[in-house]
Amino acid sequence: MDAPVNDLLDFLRFPSISTDPAHASDVANCATWVSKKLESIGLDSQIHPTGGHPIVVAKNKHRTGRPTVLIYGHYDVQPVDPVELWTSPPFDPQIANGIVTARGATDNKGQILAHILGVAGQIADNGDLPVNLIFLIEGEEEIGSSHLEDFLQQNAESLRCDVVAVSDTGMVAPNLPTLSYALRGIATLQIEITGPAVDLHSGVYGGTVANPITVLARILSTLHDQQGRVAVEGFYDDVVEIEQWERDAWRKLPIGEKEIRELTGVPELSGEQGYTALERTWARPTAELNGIGGGYQGEGSKTVIPSRAFAKLSFRLVPKQDPARVLEKVEAHLRSVCPSSVRMTLTGGHSGAPFLCDPNGRWGKAAQRALRKTFGGTEPVLIREGGSIPIITMLRDLLNADVLLLGLALPDCRAHSPNENFPLENFHAGIRLNRMLLEEIGSEGAVR
Ligand SMILES: [Zn+2]
Repeated sequence: MDAPVNDLLDFLRFPSISTDPAHASDVANCATWVSKKLESIGLDSQIHPTGGHPIVVAKNKHRTGRPTVLIYGHYDVQPVDPVELWTSPPFDPQIANGIVTARGATDNKGQILAHILGVAGQIADNGDLPVNLIFLIEGEEEIGSSHLEDFLQQNAESLRCDVVAVSDTGMVAPNLPTLSYALRGIATLQIEITGPAVDLHSGVYGGTVANPITVLARILSTLHDQQGRVAVEGFYDDVVEIEQWERDAWRKLPIGEKEIRELTGVPELSGEQGYTALERTWARPTAELNGIGGGYQGEGSKTVIPSRAFAKLSFRLVPKQDPARVLEKVEAHLRSVCPSSVRMTLTGGHSGAPFLCDPNGRWGKAAQRALRKTFGGTEPVLIREGGSIPIITMLRDLLNADVLLLGLALPDCRAHSPNENFPLENFHAGIRLNRMLLEEIGSEGAVR
């Protein structure tokens, strides 16, 4: 077996589950392994303790006249439950048909190690890199990166860079190089409707007091209009319209309505009229109900007017919507449609701003050239993603740098699920991609 694959297997054997205190020493040992690896390839590496799991930072010798690239990744992984659904133990990596199966194989050990080994190859061949490089590899990505923001703020000067590269997103299809340039943001809200002080007998009081579930259902039904648009006044005010080149490019991708229908198992897709399924999930905002409750939930029937009902709402946001502003508008809408026969309580939850980076800017173009060369001349596809990765906006804002999302994960990688896997083909492509990327960015010359 070749040396890079052996390194990958070693890395995957650490049960670095960040959420589980029982694995704290495994997480720490994994950080030590990463740092030693970075030292061994010729970088200056340090393990920085935080209030939680450590952050590993490594650099080459920085020289003026070269751009500075920060490569972000994480060495922590998700828990493995339900472990009985794994075909092999999650921390005993197995290779079959060129695919390695283990927790962390794709997310994110395989991807970040590919970057590390790409750098190793370049240093071994040339004695140096074409850029000033910073590796920032944390151990809390899977639990919300709670100590990263402080770390970035406290070390802003030593982490100063021109561009950030992250391989933690997906490829549209195998061998189809993919540059993601936008992510949706998110805002969450819980709504609670309270009527009578306690559940009431529906025979004695039915027809006299408002039923919180009925009221809630009516309120929630006002969130969308018949065309599938969010019917909150001003909701779309700051939305950046999809550009024509994006619509043209996405129509050519090998995923569309049929594939999404098959993946989801729904009889028919649904959503805002006037947009394709990809446009709706990547570049249009939504209002979703994630949970609803109230009243009697047990066997048989119970004739009550419940005291309360609640629902959990979330909104996926697109450039340039602001989560706080959107929530203000939503709250104003909900209050305007709530009758005076009940009380309404609104509680905001977590939120994150949307992300957009120009894929045809200086660094985006360099990334496209690197992707093309890595994948034998295949033209990279430029996509947005519907999900939200708050650390990406954090990196952009606190480091004041563009962020390139060069994903190597395949749609069936099973990240966070049993039997997570990563094709060695993608691992080796990642190693090549790192070399191409640093060369292309280096060829752009110094910025500051
Ligand atoms: Zn993850």
